[in-house]
Amino acid sequence: MPSYAFLTGRFTPLEEAKIGIMTHALHYGTAVFEGIRGNWNPEKKQLYLFRLKEHYQRLINGARVLKMQPKYSTSELCDITVQLAQKSSLREDVYIRPLAYKSTEGMGVRLHNLDDDFLVFIIPWGAYLDMESARCSVSTWRRPADNTIPPSVKIAGMYVNNAFAKTEAAENGFDEGIMLTPEGHVAEGSGENIFLVKNGRIITPPVYNNILVGITRDTVITLARNELGIETEERPVDRVELYQADECFLTGTAAHLTPVSEIDHYRLNSNGAGSITTQLKRLYFDVIQGRCPNYMHWCTPVYPD
Ligand code: PMP
Repeated sequence: MPSYAFLTGRFTPLEEAKIGIMTHALHYGTAVFEGIRGNWNPEKKQLYLFRLKEHYQRLINGARVLKMQPKYSTSELCDITVQLAQKSSLREDVYIRPLAYKSTEGMGVRLHNLDDDFLVFIIPWGAYLDMESARCSVSTWRRPADNTIPPSVKIAGMYVNNAFAKTEAAENGFDEGIMLTPEGHVAEGSGENIFLVKNGRIITPPVYNNILVGITRDTVITLARNELGIETEERPVDRVELYQADECFLTGTAAHLTPVSEIDHYRLNSNGAGSITTQLKRLYFDVIQGRCPNYMHWCTPVYPD
């Protein structure tokens, strides 16, 4: 099945979509990106793009921080993406990767006096953390402070920090690394936000603890409030709270909602199958696959009904 990309204003078969070796973003990480899921609903034979608008709003906000000139509005970006998905005619779970990047082919570390462009491609992609529950370790790599590289923006170059944490965890036999803030509070996984459940309360690190403010995080906070009647506490989390949690789970576009069974060899009370986690996971998958009438405003159908 051919996949397509949208590059320099045109749809192109994915294998023909290339950029030059001198492109600024390749050398200095001067790009912002998104990850968007399309979730296949086999009963309705429909592909639903999840919270498309919110992903593009985050991209546009990030592009501003990197001093890029917006070429397209949020609604134009959404239209391009729906067209791209239709062209690719995939009938399975997909992943969409938009990138706003400094496109000048030239050297010199800076943000100013550079052209920028937008590309997006779509590929079939199933589970990312392909497991019932994840075993995690606390990383020796810390999240950067906002005045180092702002972690609330999905800046391509910053992801070397995340890659260090992920590979350290993998080489030590874990599935995911959990990074702390420079001061030592829990921040997030290398590609996911983190939630704890303790005595029936749901807790997650706050925006000011060096996290990427996840769209899945917001989805879960909303579902917990509306469907379970639980208000999530957004507050600094100490490392030791990870070891004492009843339940823990990770959220992210790629990882969906993945329960955590173990952190630094401490087995959690729930062992990865806690009841609040299980309820939220079931709700989350129903919502993203377009099975919940109350949340269809988050799901953009790709194909005509
Ligand atoms: N934190 C980091 C570092 C991430 O890369 C991601 C993935 N975008 C997330 C959290 C989760 O964000 P979202 O739910 O918007 O995918």
